[in-house]
Amino acid sequence: MSSTRKKLWINGQAVDGESGIAPLVSVNPANGAVNYEVATAGSTLVDAAVRNAEDAVRSKAWRQMLPPQRAAILSRIADGMERRGDELAKLQMMENGKVWRECQVQVKSAAATFRYYAAVCETTGSEVTPSRGDYLSMSVYEPYGVVAAITPWNSPMTMEAQKVAPALAAGNAVVLKPSEITPSTALVLAEIASQAGLPAGILNVLPGTGALVGAALVEHPKVRMVSFTGGTESGRRIAETAARKLMPVALELGGKSPHIVFNDAPVDAAVAALAGGIFEGSGQSCVAGSRAFVQRGIYDELVTKLVATARALKVDLPDAAGAEMGPLATFTHRDKVASMVDTARLAGADILVGGHRPDVSNLAAGAYYLPTVVAGITNQAAIAQQEIFGPVLCVIPFDDEADLITQANDTAFGLASGVWTRDYQRAWRVARALQAGTVWINTYKQLSIATPFGGFKDSGIGREKGINGMRLYQQAKGIYFGMSALA
Ligand code: NAD
Repeated sequence: MSSTRKKLWINGQAVDGESGIAPLVSVNPANGAVNYEVATAGSTLVDAAVRNAEDAVRSKAWRQMLPPQRAAILSRIADGMERRGDELAKLQMMENGKVWRECQVQVKSAAATFRYYAAVCETTGSEVTPSRGDYLSMSVYEPYGVVAAITPWNSPMTMEAQKVAPALAAGNAVVLKPSEITPSTALVLAEIASQAGLPAGILNVLPGTGALVGAALVEHPKVRMVSFTGGTESGRRIAETAARKLMPVALELGGKSPHIVFNDAPVDAAVAALAGGIFEGSGQSCVAGSRAFVQRGIYDELVTKLVATARALKVDLPDAAGAEMGPLATFTHRDKVASMVDTARLAGADILVGGHRPDVSNLAAGAYYLPTVVAGITNQAAIAQQEIFGPVLCVIPFDDEADLITQANDTAFGLASGVWTRDYQRAWRVARALQAGTVWINTYKQLSIATPFGGFKDSGIGREKGINGMRLYQQAKGIYFGMSALA
């Protein structure tokens, strides 16, 4: 096994793991087989990686590289990801069980993110500010130095690209800690970046656990900014450390997003979006529309169609032709999802479809759970309030717009939301009243790299994507030129 152990990436090369720290064992959730071992860091290698990154970010090679040159490297990284697209997609599929088609889409979207930030890097610079006297003043934007990027397992490439591309475009060095469940695509990304001409030390990848490697990175005195995507409780712990260090953080956290359907909505389109919004990726999406609010006039019709759609979904091995839903990413996570549904059932919820593992022999060894629709609950039920991060949709009726807004906003989270109605005035009113960082109207889960993304309330701090997605990784400096003293 150790001959196939994957290595860490520090200072432009693959290195062995830290002695005394057990490697990660990657398990394929589709069948329970061991994929490979991955070397891990401990506090010594965290320190080495951060110090190398600090030297690299201060080196002339990186500091004096002009934005068009940095942009060219980012574009070449995108080329490299596309060239190695099948390999990247396969690694993700083996590690988190997403269906093949979705893995391929995610590689393309990660490459597109590098291309987008190449363009932002090349076109977005200092600004002259309007004069208020006999001087010229400018805003210039400088990197923080060493940035820690910490990512989850559900969409590793998407999250890695969303942090690494803008942080490099902004002129930082990055130490990336991927999730312990999906460490491999980040290691390939580092290799691609090196081949694309990124100087050694500017991107380092340290697989390992959050408790050890993640926490050591956040604590490290030379890490000056942390960009984190993951669960709300992990985010809170990171923010506490950051507060002590007076260090900025960007936090993209959990969600319990309302997906709302009014009586006048196109029912079939709404049903397809509701199903896609929760069952795609087996519900392991931060923006999963996990609370469906359906107006009473169409409740029965919509729920009947929704149940039929859930029942017809093709749950299969991730590489099976036509598979629409694969397993959950780990067995532990599948058991947690199952136990949340069981608890709701015991408390009196109606499980309209799903609510158990599939009963077919070729999926028996995998971490599968069927698409599940839960009704007969209120928005106050635990299952409607807690993030499940699985293929479980709660359906709750509502009467009018005011009732809907109260219920939809009655959650600790505020990441995303969806509204289905033919009345655009109502859509606008509801969109403005929802406490969520993203509102989709008559669509769901459409994502653009150019549009800000992030959460209200417990769903996070800061906005990724767009031009400000690069500014997240920069600090502004005002520079003044007096215009008369030398006259
Ligand atoms: P997690 O919080 O357990 O782990 C995320 C990452 O943080 C991992 O790399 C982990 O090792 C690391 N980590 C954990 N504790 C840490 C600590 N104390 N210090 C530093 N690093 C630490 O989350 P997860 O289970 O990997 O992912 C699922 C969660 O992520 C869900 O809540 C989901 O909603 C959220 N998520 C949010 C977004 C978003 O954009 N808002 C996107 C994807 C996932």
